[in-house]
Amino acid sequence: VRGCLVLFTECEDVTELKVADDVRLPLQKFRHLPIFDLDIRADSRLYSLQAQCALPTDQGTMSLLVFQHRSLSHDQVLVLQSLTIVDPGEPVLIRLHDACFTSELFYSEKCDCRQQLEAAQKYVAAHGGLVIYLQQEGRGIGVVNKVKAYACQIRDGLDTVDGNRVLGLPDDLRTYRCVQDILTALGITRVALITNNMRKVEALRKQGIDVAQRIPSVVEAESGTMAAYVRTKAQRMGHVF
Ligand SMILES: [Zn+2]
Repeated sequence: VRGCLVLFTECEDVTELKVADDVRLPLQKFRHLPIFDLDIRADSRLYSLQAQCALPTDQGTMSLLVFQHRSLSHDQVLVLQSLTIVDPGEPVLIRLHDACFTSELFYSEKCDCRQQLEAAQKYVAAHGGLVIYLQQEGRGIGVVNKVKAYACQIRDGLDTVDGNRVLGLPDDLRTYRCVQDILTALGITRVALITNNMRKVEALRKQGIDVAQRIPSVVEAESGTMAAYVRTKAQRMGHVF
């Protein structure tokens, strides 16, 4: 924090601070503690690497890195990096994967997130690259809203888009602002994005990231419910395969 002093007080009526007989500093009140930028000249990155280890997986040993937002400690991004040596001239394979507890933990058949994650990890382990795992449950609306939307879908026979809209929730609230910082930290300048979602490609390009190629992510739907979800993504959310 520069040029500013932050004080905590429980008194509601304190409006100034006496620092000498003739010097009083006016106080500004905040309902919540404001988040100040750290010294931007030193480091303009919002996300930085906090921890790293080698992780044995069913696809061989990979490297696990944890990036964290510098002000929002709960905002953590897991990056699984292949140890495969890749040609430095080639774009680096990247999968941006958003957390989905229902599918990944409980094998829900309402979506194909677990299958997408497993396929991406396998592909990246074999060809070199990264899986960037973001905690943006339910396309960014959070797990509470996602489960409410599921209840609406099941009760009223709605698809994933209308399930959100009935609750007044947006179709997609995800952001990918961490990606540039992660790529910079890892010295990556060109990527090949594994995705069916053109919005992810556009989101990265808007940040100035060189997306040289899009690689479709094709997984087998394991049930009729899952196939319906994939169809909705194609018909209503602009996904391409
Ligand atoms: Zn899912």
